[in-house]
Amino acid sequence: MVGNDPGKGTVTGGVTRLSLLAPLDGWAAPLEEVPDPVFAQRMMGDGLAIDPTGGTLRAPCDGVVIAIHRARHAVTLRAECGVEILMHIGLETVALGGRGFTIHTTEGAAVRAGDALIEFDMDLLAREAKSLLTPLVIAGGPSATVVEAKTGVAVRAGAVLLTLLVQGNGSAPAEGAGVAGGTAASGSAAGAERSLVLPLVHGLHARPAAMLATAAKPFAATVHLVAQGRRANAKSAVAAMSMGLRHGDALTVVGEGADAAAAVAAVADAIAAGLGETPVPPPAALPVPSLPTAAVPPPDEPPALEVQPPFAPGETAVIRAVTAAPGLALGRAFRLEDEEVEVPASGRGAEAERTLLAAALKRVRARLGAAVAQAETAGQAQRRDIFRAHLAILDDPELLDEALAAISGGEAAGVAWRAATDRRATALRALGNPRMAERAADLIDLRRQVMLALAGREPQPVILPQGAILVAEELMPSQLSNLDAGRLAGFCTARGGPTSHVAILAASMGVPALVAGGAAVLRIPDDAPLILDADRGLLHVQPPAEDLARLERETGQRQARMEANLRAATADCVMADGTRIEVYANVGKVADAVKGVAKGAEGCGLLRTEFLFLDRQTAPDEDEQAAQYQAVATALAGRPLIIRTLDVGGDKPLPYLPLPREENPILGLRGVRIGLRRPEILRTQLRAILRVRPVGQCRIMVPMVATLDEVRAVRDMLDQEREALGHAPPVQLGVMVETPAAAVTADQLATEADFLSIGTNDLTQYVLAMDRGNPDLAARLDALHPAVLRLIRQTAEGAARHGRWVGVCGALASDPAAAPLLVGLGVTELSATPPAIPDIKAALRPLDKAACAALAREALAQESAAAVRSLLARAGMAASVMEGAA
Ligand code: PEP
Ligand code: MG
Repeated sequence: MVGNDPGKGTVTGGVTRLSLLAPLDGWAAPLEEVPDPVFAQRMMGDGLAIDPTGGTLRAPCDGVVIAIHRARHAVTLRAECGVEILMHIGLETVALGGRGFTIHTTEGAAVRAGDALIEFDMDLLAREAKSLLTPLVIAGGPSATVVEAKTGVAVRAGAVLLTLLVQGNGSAPAEGAGVAGGTAASGSAAGAERSLVLPLVHGLHARPAAMLATAAKPFAATVHLVAQGRRANAKSAVAAMSMGLRHGDALTVVGEGADAAAAVAAVADAIAAGLGETPVPPPAALPVPSLPTAAVPPPDEPPALEVQPPFAPGETAVIRAVTAAPGLALGRAFRLEDEEVEVPASGRGAEAERTLLAAALKRVRARLGAAVAQAETAGQAQRRDIFRAHLAILDDPELLDEALAAISGGEAAGVAWRAATDRRATALRALGNPRMAERAADLIDLRRQVMLALAGREPQPVILPQGAILVAEELMPSQLSNLDAGRLAGFCTARGGPTSHVAILAASMGVPALVAGGAAVLRIPDDAPLILDADRGLLHVQPPAEDLARLERETGQRQARMEANLRAATADCVMADGTRIEVYANVGKVADAVKGVAKGAEGCGLLRTEFLFLDRQTAPDEDEQAAQYQAVATALAGRPLIIRTLDVGGDKPLPYLPLPREENPILGLRGVRIGLRRPEILRTQLRAILRVRPVGQCRIMVPMVATLDEVRAVRDMLDQEREALGHAPPVQLGVMVETPAAAVTADQLATEADFLSIGTNDLTQYVLAMDRGNPDLAARLDALHPAVLRLIRQTAEGAARHGRWVGVCGALASDPAAAPLLVGLGVTELSATPPAIPDIKAALRPLDKAACAALAREALAQESAAAVRSLLARAGMAASVMEGAA
């Protein structure tokens, strides 16, 4: 037994006696009872298992965390005497992909016996995992014998569970056992080697790693796995699983010694055969989303913007950019240059640099924490969530590990942090996914903040002149939130995207903003007069005096009209001939619903449910979803709420729902296709929606439908879930028309669907075959293209045949100028961003349906989107808002 300090070893005669404490409350069972041969047959090592009654896994002794599995379900600790203890929460829990697990430590962290390591959701595991039994095994390190094990009894976390005698008291880690011990691959060996690709869907996790070690151990030769610049002893299951290899990763099996050829052949064959799982060849030639390690050359930087001479004084120009937040602003340019933060290039020793980095991270964390609290108090939910997301990035264990590894290799803290954040930002940009690229700006922001903290500096607020229009290559969320919003008239960036955090912040601050304006933005001299027309995606540089004067007048008039429209916004939208058009709000958060109601929304026409849980690492369960949907329903105070089922895939990845890599994700597993392939996700969501009260307030809408079968399958699921809930009353089920197929077959879809709502964002991208996230195509991706308009008409006609209503919830519905045209095409519901609602209602009220239909007929005959735009401007039907449209 141990002395007074449980969790530490006591040494006698070169043998350490180590007591391990129970890491969980529960029932201790012998390994033989674990229904998995890898553990039951002790392939991973000796130990026992606990059937948990509590959901917090704690350290069984003092030590260092040497590996946390990517899927968060397993952790390995190295005790001071060198013994490596693997704890694997539940069985087959790798398949949860991290869902249900919250990590409370990081790789490389020193922990004390009893410290919380991982929290897990017992209910979720009970529902979805094969078993909750949690093996604790001695998986590596010096030779150790279990001399006492408490099994067949209930244990409390912290009670002595297992006593080991460990040979020697050396703390040197076993070779290759753990991430920190990895060394760069030499690339060749005297013996033998074979390269292959990992065919395991869940990567090299505990069970296959144990099989691998079993395959390697009979040979005298040393056998290593080499991948991504790391090298691990194949005879150590912990070392192998610590490499974190994923499905499709390339690896080489390298052997040295007399029987190396046989050893390499046996190990490589075992891997190719799936190590006890069914091998699945990875899809070929797809981009690798995992971030590159040090030995892999970093992906290409995004091309630098071409440096061109500044505009000459008086030189006029119009820059076309992408709207991030609507509005019109007149002002003078204020150039914001991104200042490089100087930090020492050489380190003062790993220990000192680690301490410096930890202190800098702590300062930034504290600042972000204060920003979260401030936003919370001010009721600014979006702002709060952005800072929360930054806190989560700052705590990312992989990012930290990468920086710490560089510090251990002799780098200074600043150099290590800059390299780690840059590599990830570059990798995110190189994925070719615009949303991921936008997240890169968040990383760069955190790079700068931590570097400033390392340099002992505080971020200085920029002193803006009154009415400044900021121009910059890229703007970061922290920079924007440090600016005095009262002085900022608007901004335009050369890079960035409309869904970036900075764009969301701008919209919530009510600041008109343009992004992705390209290199021309960098040509704008300081103090140049500008007109930022974010409604039309245009930045006028040094406009002629008469334009400035006209636009100044127009701004004033527009402001007055908008105020009048807002005063009338809560009244229903009834046109001059009595035609009733419903104007709803698009909602991504509870706060949008509140804002929508204030702006006159008659309901919510699109709740983007994926936005409610965007920055989560784990999937929301039924209760959490029901609570969020209920909160939106309550905010709408009885008005109809159309909830769109989860629309992930394509340009909308979710961290908690990793999807297979695809060559062309926009045409791949998206929207309802995922719901039907992973029915448990869709069913959970349907059940959560059915729980919202009052009954009847919610309708359900299905995204990315291409065939009638999909609608029928969802309807069947919905009926089954209603039945299971005790005959819940019927709920209207609608279909989003986002694919050309859905538009063309609207008459068939309308036999199954209660309503159709056109997603013009996706419909336009698919009709024009232009990626909606590609900034180079942004200016041509116009939903007013006659081809899109013809499909809208076809949808309305198809639906009318079965008496179904048709709405539009894509961005076109938020353009007041387009509202008469959409009504003329047969649309009776528009779901828009909240700020646009008063203007849309005002644009429609004075019109009658026959005039709108005549306008639509003319628009359908136009040859281009530009021609349709000028037709709308000539018709001047939306003059109540858009006077002076280009
Ligand atoms: C659309 O495609 O128009 C739509 C409303 O859906 P999302 O923009 O969320 O893809
Ligand atoms: Mg869509």
